Amino acid sequence: GSETLIDTFNKELEKNNLTNEVKIVKTGCFGLCEAGPIVIVYPEGAFYSHVKIEDVKRITEEHLLKGRIVKDLLFKEAIEEDKVRSINEVDFYKKQKRVALRNCGVINPEDIKEYIAFDGYKALGKVLTEMTREEVIDTIKKSGLRGRGGGGFPTGLKWEFTYKAQGDQKYVACNADEGDPGAFMDRSVLEGDPHALVEAMAIAAYAVGANQGYVYVRAEYPIAVHRLQIAIDQAREYGLLGKNIFDTDFEFDLEIRLGAGAFVCGEETALLNSIEGKRGMPRPRPPFPAVKGLWQKPTLLNNVETYANVPQIILNGAEWFASMGTEKSKGTKVFALGGKINNTGLLEIPMGTTLREVIYEIGGGIPNGKKFKAVQTGGPSGGCITADYLDTPIDYDNLIALGSMMGSGGMIVMDEDNCMVDVARFFLDFTVDESCGKCPPCRIGTKRMLEILDKITSGKGEPEDIDKLERLAQSIKASALCGLGQTAPNPVLSTLKYFRDEYEAHVNEKR
Ligand code: SF4
Repeated sequence: GSETLIDTFNKELEKNNLTNEVKIVKTGCFGLCEAGPIVIVYPEGAFYSHVKIEDVKRITEEHLLKGRIVKDLLFKEAIEEDKVRSINEVDFYKKQKRVALRNCGVINPEDIKEYIAFDGYKALGKVLTEMTREEVIDTIKKSGLRGRGGGGFPTGLKWEFTYKAQGDQKYVACNADEGDPGAFMDRSVLEGDPHALVEAMAIAAYAVGANQGYVYVRAEYPIAVHRLQIAIDQAREYGLLGKNIFDTDFEFDLEIRLGAGAFVCGEETALLNSIEGKRGMPRPRPPFPAVKGLWQKPTLLNNVETYANVPQIILNGAEWFASMGTEKSKGTKVFALGGKINNTGLLEIPMGTTLREVIYEIGGGIPNGKKFKAVQTGGPSGGCITADYLDTPIDYDNLIALGSMMGSGGMIVMDEDNCMVDVARFFLDFTVDESCGKCPPCRIGTKRMLEILDKITSGKGEPEDIDKLERLAQSIKASALCGLGQTAPNPVLSTLKYFRDEYEAHVNEKR
């Protein structure tokens, strides 16, 4: 409803002769989906939530005209004993540290001038005029940044491999094919701060020696695609893409490639095939994309969130970034928090924040006084984490040790009413649907697993079906060709680990 709100605000401003004094700025996502549509009025920072068309008149006449904050329209946590709290003071934002999302909800993503006003393209200027390519790579390495798309591979090392690879032509690419159910991290960056990606890819291109980049983004994200195209066009117009960028001999251009909705195209080699116009199926690795990527040329591939951190690392230094997070997982991570949680939304927290802080302080706890049961991290490739582990600091290694994974950042919360066998069945059904069919363990194995799960959930299971399911899951994990198949059994394996009694209850129900 935000577009209609903007139109209504503009009409009210005109009616009240405020068009010269008040400017309406359309921003990207604020993150707190639960409270939308959100309107923030500056300089007070008054945080109005769930704003309706009929509220616009009151906000205009009271707040904008007479300077009186309309307290009953503020977000519930934005007012305490008559004291108005700004957006950064409410619980949802207090513990967050926004690096990748720093401009989301702040600037107009369709206006390059606003991005520049917030230090935009300053990092690109710095690397092109003050740093060697080796220094840029060294800075990214020292920052400790790891791939935010799921793998967690050290980003600087990837940049170095591509830099050192032999090739007359090199490419940089961005994976914006976010397909996990419940995940919308990359979408928000593209919709809220697309220039950050353009700038970061130009920096990466300079570092590895590429002159052409591709952003592979899913066609189901029309606003993201639209805004990214605007950002690319504006960057070209301002001489930030093309030839002689910042009056140097560096040349770089960027194009968008649309994905047609296959989850497997989020796998890096399938994505490269798809950009080349081939069927989106994974290629065996090695060779890795850094050596033979797009059209067999060395290619650097990172996801949107990974790139979004880069300009800030260049501007603030590797030590600044490495000062946040845990020993092996530096910086912050964006999560999409959904399911049975009060504050559904998008958040960015320093690595090492505990799950309890995310669920109860930022997320505001479980609705209707229900008990927390588990949280699924990593989407269909991840696993569930139970209440016993709520105090675990979130980082790559801790989540893997619990049988789950960071993944790209989806977090789905389950309460006491959720059946964990159904949850596992939901995710497996998704991966069966999305299997590309290239290798038998995934194509046939996951289908057989789903059949067993169907049998169990429909009350026709036998006790030996549970063991069979587990054996099959282990062998698919060990033998599938790509990440999709190798991780597809994870939701089943982790629910079997923590909630085996629920599988047994289904089987015993029948007896
Ligand atoms: Fe395709 Fe699945 Fe094999 Fe990956 S594991 S190549 S998605 S069939």
